[in-house]
Amino acid sequence: MTSAIQRLGAFGRHPGHVADYPAPAMGRSLVLNATYEPLGVVSSRRAAVLVMDHKADLLHSWGEQLHSARLVVDVPSVIRLRYFVRVPYQRRAALSRRGVFLRDGGRCQYCGRRAESIDHVVPRSRGGQHVWENVVAACRRCNTTKRDRMLEDTNMRLGQHPEAPRHLSWVLVALGNVPAIWHQYLGVDKALSA
Ligand SMILES: [Zn+2]
Repeated sequence: MTSAIQRLGAFGRHPGHVADYPAPAMGRSLVLNATYEPLGVVSSRRAAVLVMDHKADLLHSWGEQLHSARLVVDVPSVIRLRYFVRVPYQRRAALSRRGVFLRDGGRCQYCGRRAESIDHVVPRSRGGQHVWENVVAACRRCNTTKRDRMLEDTNMRLGQHPEAPRHLSWVLVALGNVPAIWHQYLGVDKALSA
């Protein structure tokens, strides 16, 4: 999660008031670009500062408020920047079991049945790497059948070539614990319910 958040931090820094308040229970806020593209997750305090500085609009709050002597601020759950941030590159999502299951729709990539495990296409014992391009969701039966053989030494075939997901949504999904209100902006409804 580092680089996008660090970039957000660069313009979210503020000498201000809100930073001194105790953290609310819901401590995270989703930041959307002006185009509604998800950019990253920041602390709710930082998000509140962006809204107070008129750099972002509040789209959803957590239903809690930050109080001070002079003002009351809704704790942001989702904010949208008022200006466009160019994202120079898409960070690579960290490989996770959960992410592989989501990418592959919870289906075994060899036979289409419900997946229960992950399989290294080129077995690790044959030098296969633990990377998105070499890991697929698999059912127990296919996993057991394939064992540590190369694919060409079996009669099994991959439905599609595994690739690394590029979109930030996948980074967030792979982290788990994505609040329901964020789903509509991350485009992951189907994947999460699969
Ligand atoms: Zn299978």
